[in-house]
Amino acid sequence: MKWQRRQFLKKGSQSLLALSAMPSFKWLALDTADETKKEQDPIEYRILGKTGMKITTVSMGAMRTREPSVIHHALDQGINYIDTARRYMDGYNEVVVGQVLKTRRKDTFVATKILPGKFSESEILDSLEASLKALQTDYVDVIQLHGMSNVEDIQNEEAMSTLAKIKQEGKARFVGFTTHSNQRELLLAAIPLKFYDTILVSYNFKSPPELGEAIQKAADSGIGIVAMKTQAGGYETKELGNLSPHQAALKWVLQNQGVHTTIPGMVTYAQIDENIQAMGSKMGWHDRKVLHRYGNAIDHKLCRMCGQCEGACPQGVSVLDVNRVLMYSEGYRDPDLASMTFHELSAKERGLACLSCDHCTVRCPHGLNIQARIQSVQQLMV
Ligand code: SF4
Ligand code: SF4
Repeated sequence: MKWQRRQFLKKGSQSLLALSAMPSFKWLALDTADETKKEQDPIEYRILGKTGMKITTVSMGAMRTREPSVIHHALDQGINYIDTARRYMDGYNEVVVGQVLKTRRKDTFVATKILPGKFSESEILDSLEASLKALQTDYVDVIQLHGMSNVEDIQNEEAMSTLAKIKQEGKARFVGFTTHSNQRELLLAAIPLKFYDTILVSYNFKSPPELGEAIQKAADSGIGIVAMKTQAGGYETKELGNLSPHQAALKWVLQNQGVHTTIPGMVTYAQIDENIQAMGSKMGWHDRKVLHRYGNAIDHKLCRMCGQCEGACPQGVSVLDVNRVLMYSEGYRDPDLASMTFHELSAKERGLACLSCDHCTVRCPHGLNIQARIQSVQQLMV
């Protein structure tokens, strides 16, 4: 594949407009040049498992990107994999990505996702057709089942045969699934299935070691591994002052050779320019220090999505999902995404019951105050 990078001089007026509209970027990148940074070319590639796709280790998480010129900028810098989904922005995110693909389809790989909870042939095909139309392309590189949390779901025969048909017809080159919860089990269950080409998994420096091992095992079996939620919520914390944890967080994830690429969500040029510097760089002393400080600052609010609280609430509250809503609000500072995720949950799962519950029986091994956090989401969503 050919693509052009570092086309700084080729940016049009659209790009300049986006720059001027860009929100101020508070954090300054930590200067680790003395230890780790490659001087010449920060672009690093890994092969996405048996797909054989040679992709940049930092890719474009487009989930919250509303401005096509930001994605153009990512491609200009050498990034060659874009992640979107039918669900993001209620379909509009694929329209944004499509604005880029209509002129640069050959410059990049693109991955999207079937609407969550859809497993029948007609639902999957309808979702894919809508994606292809919005993306202005006749094929995607990867199509994924979105948000799997049960082993039975990745073994769903109708879904699998439909995905196989899609692949055969050339509407998607490869098939995969994404997961936020029960991740270790799903990674390990996917290996003997010998069906999925890729798995998109939530993984960051706060993830348990067992998850890293499962990722490595899945990768060893030939499955391409894409990591999301790599920035552990992306919280702004006064404890870090002007230091940014972003490069360090990406370097930490990429230490695991089983991870083939990362998809940090990026909405500004500055975030892209900062994050691409993590490619080809090893963790240094400063990185470890800044992650330690960042970790301490967010420990009390970061849900590790370990799933250990799953099914623990007698009232049926989906503790992990409601914590994810809070992360989108507090960390990503994206009220629309938080609201959309909240309203996708059933009334029971949202946690209204927490407001009048006498005694919370859900215990988080990571010390999160479950009732207080879920109550705060109710107040946020009124
Ligand atoms: S709330 Fe705690 S137990 Fe539940 S998924 Fe998050 S980190 Fe794990
Ligand atoms: S406070 Fe009560 S209703 Fe809310 S999660 Fe805990 S046990 Fe469930």
